[in-house]
Amino acid sequence: MKYQSTRGHEMPQSFSEILLGGLAPDGGLYLPAQYPQVTADELEAWRKLPYADLAYEILRKFCDDIPAEDLRALTRKTYTAEVYCNARAGDNTADITPLRTLGEEGGTKLQLLGLSNGPTLAFKDMAMQLLGNLFEYALARAGQELNILGATSGDTGSAAEYAMRGKRGIRVFMLSPHRKMSAFQTAQMFSLQDPNIFNLAIDGVFDDAQDIVKAVSNDHAFKARQKIGTVNSINWARVVAQVVYYFKGWLLATDGPGQKVSFCVPSGNFGNVCAGHIARMMGLPIDKLVVATNENDVLDEFFRTGAYRVRKSAETYHTSSPSMDISKASNFERFVFDLLGQDAGKLAALFRDVEEQGGFDLAGTPEFDRIRQFGFVSGRSTHQDRLATIRDLSSRYGVTIDTHTADGIKVAREHLSAGVPMVVLETALPAKFADTIREALGQEPERPAKFEGIESLPQRFEVMPADAAQVKAYIARHTGL
Ligand SMILES: *Cc1c(COP(=O)(O)O)cnc(C)c1O
Repeated sequence: MKYQSTRGHEMPQSFSEILLGGLAPDGGLYLPAQYPQVTADELEAWRKLPYADLAYEILRKFCDDIPAEDLRALTRKTYTAEVYCNARAGDNTADITPLRTLGEEGGTKLQLLGLSNGPTLAFKDMAMQLLGNLFEYALARAGQELNILGATSGDTGSAAEYAMRGKRGIRVFMLSPHRKMSAFQTAQMFSLQDPNIFNLAIDGVFDDAQDIVKAVSNDHAFKARQKIGTVNSINWARVVAQVVYYFKGWLLATDGPGQKVSFCVPSGNFGNVCAGHIARMMGLPIDKLVVATNENDVLDEFFRTGAYRVRKSAETYHTSSPSMDISKASNFERFVFDLLGQDAGKLAALFRDVEEQGGFDLAGTPEFDRIRQFGFVSGRSTHQDRLATIRDLSSRYGVTIDTHTADGIKVAREHLSAGVPMVVLETALPAKFADTIREALGQEPERPAKFEGIESLPQRFEVMPADAAQVKAYIARHTGL
């Protein structure tokens, strides 16, 4: 299996070669030269597999340069009921991503796929935990070390820290805006005592932290000497790890070959739903892929009209589903590459238009028709919709959902087809977004037992001014490189 860049850079790479990297040298994103195929017989044979072994079967189709027994050991170490233990009472934790039927609506089943039962209560754990084990394995094999630098306003940073804590050969330097995260999120990150995790609380807002990461990454000599890397959502291994739960969700929602299932995905950077698209390209019988956005509706606008119009950061709203507050979708390029029939020249031209004119428009082109062939539809949701949906699910089904999942449910209900199960991906648990739950329901969301009293644990972090030079000095001091 060789990987190509969406922008045509002629240098096929192996899975291990792209594992630790980000963008391709030409600025494109990596994709496999062909999507591996899964037959109906193979799918049926996978019904009885535990999640870890299903993950192995799918990953090995994308990765032929890690020995089979090593890859299997890595997936078995990653996907255990001990790690993914925060499911609601009544859900089967052994499934890792339990499927819960909420009820019958529109002549079909409305279902919730629980992806948020891992250590940080958001779906990012599903891929990040595997990445931690893959990175540790690959670094040991190559005799290398890696210092991960990132900026976070919550979900990604904590998922990365919980995936990398205690891993040999890896340190994490995570910048966050001082006193701007919720008490719960702060406690989640800062209570980690592992010596390879460094929390830097920056005096400033998220953009200041992000700017420092950019400044450090643009100092190429420093970056090389300090072995700086990232774990952002364009990482191919993260996308492929997410493909697995579409298969698991389909297997849990069906009982025989060829049955169609629709998935609705609360979307931001388009990483999660891109994995659904790849599952469909591999032959999984998916009917619709429903893209749900919040008020930051750049993706909804594209799927409705064909116009991709990235927003300026000043036009990005701060919403009550904050992990979907994006101005442009960093994984979107992978999907557009397929829309264009994998024409790297055309793709490079379109994304030049994004740089120079802030977007492109596919309305009226054959490529736009392909969006429907690929099963994509979309919708948007607002703060009032979230509140109403959280209240409705609580009273109708006795289930409390988080704000992002509420965006998913709201939009899923606009695209139900009789007889086709609608599986909404649960991308976080409500405990993470207690303020909005309180606003909607007038009560605290339930907290998984492990998180009781987390705010009173001792915290380990360093407050720093928004100054790249001081952050660099801190990194150098702690790596000794
Ligand atoms: C990251 C995140 C999303 C958005 O996922 P993308 O892969 O960026 O589209 C949605 N919900 C939650 C809770 C998240 O953490």
